[in-house]
Amino acid sequence: MTAASEERCGVDMDRNELVVVTGGGGFIGGHVVSELLARGFGRVRAVDIKPLGRWYQQHDGVENVSADLRDADSCQSAAAGAATIVNLAADMGGMGFIETHKADCMVSVLINTHLLIAARDAGVGTFLFGSSACVYAADKQTDTEVTALREQDAYPAMPEDGYGWEKLFSERMCRHFMEDYGISVRVPRFHNVYGPFGTYDGGREKAPAAVCRKVIQAQLDGSNAIEIWGDGKQTRSFTYIDDTIEGIFRLLESDVSEPINLGSSQLVTINGLVDIVEGIAGVQLDRNYLTSAPQGVRGRNSDNTLILDRLGWAPSISLEDGLAKTYAWIYEQMTSGARDEAALAFQGT
Ligand code: NAD
Repeated sequence: MTAASEERCGVDMDRNELVVVTGGGGFIGGHVVSELLARGFGRVRAVDIKPLGRWYQQHDGVENVSADLRDADSCQSAAAGAATIVNLAADMGGMGFIETHKADCMVSVLINTHLLIAARDAGVGTFLFGSSACVYAADKQTDTEVTALREQDAYPAMPEDGYGWEKLFSERMCRHFMEDYGISVRVPRFHNVYGPFGTYDGGREKAPAAVCRKVIQAQLDGSNAIEIWGDGKQTRSFTYIDDTIEGIFRLLESDVSEPINLGSSQLVTINGLVDIVEGIAGVQLDRNYLTSAPQGVRGRNSDNTLILDRLGWAPSISLEDGLAKTYAWIYEQMTSGARDEAALAFQGT
């Protein structure tokens, strides 16, 4: 760690300095902007490739910018004057998307590369990069009774093809920008984040939102059946957005520059996930298993020893409670005519 980055260790963020949130029109980015405002940050710039009308959340009092951050000039403009950048822009989606769009996922390396260079040029103090549990080696995730993944399990490297390689490479680039240029970096590895104001339709949605949508749809169209990708026995942990946001802020105000798991350790099978959502809806559906559909690794869980130790963070919202809130939001979207705009929005180029 350099002297420049050490100086910022444990220092509260200055609420008068400019914070830039990329991917601000997306799921996690929209919630970060919301929380910045709630915490009294006076200068916030949100940047996203989507036209403003298709952002999940758009806040008053924020400089909202629509720009393609694969472009170097756009990154220079986005970073100008910033004290902190929270980089959550990426071309991504759930397993159905990342298994079929590997090149698109890897092109997101342009965003992180140009943004780090711009951050260096603009003298940005702190740069947070939203990494992923997909950096972990696939051969450590072959069993449903998976041993929870520790940060060091990312090496020797054999991440999720495409998306995971881009994340691991970009993590590494953050590290070297810190070592060589003194930018203080923060690298949370998110594990399956879910909640309101996120994608639930259109091909980029992840399992919790997809299951909620399918259960709601089965009721609305009276089919009483649900399609499940895989045999339903694969395991995951899912993190409610409020817990993720709390972790992001603790991380930003910490001195933790190495990659760190930010995820729930409540392991559940996909069948278990469906059970919970059916319970919320008060229905029981016929299950059709699509065993040839993309299903990712067999099991994945987050070891939270490091984040508990360094940040005192542990998830506080149960899957049952988080899914109830998510279900209610998706139900409202699907029945009020406010269809998922973002599902129609950024489809890559
Ligand atoms: P999201 O798709 O809702 O948000 C990403 C945003 O980036 C989108 O609004 C998209 O329009 C924007 N974007 C894409 N390409 C862009 C470009 N060229 N220029 C500017 N903006 C661009 O996804 P999210 O769930 O909010 O994810 C945020 C970050 O967290 C991403 O880096 C993602 O890889 C990472 N992550 C998310 C999860 C999860 O479960 N949600 C898990 C692991 C990692």
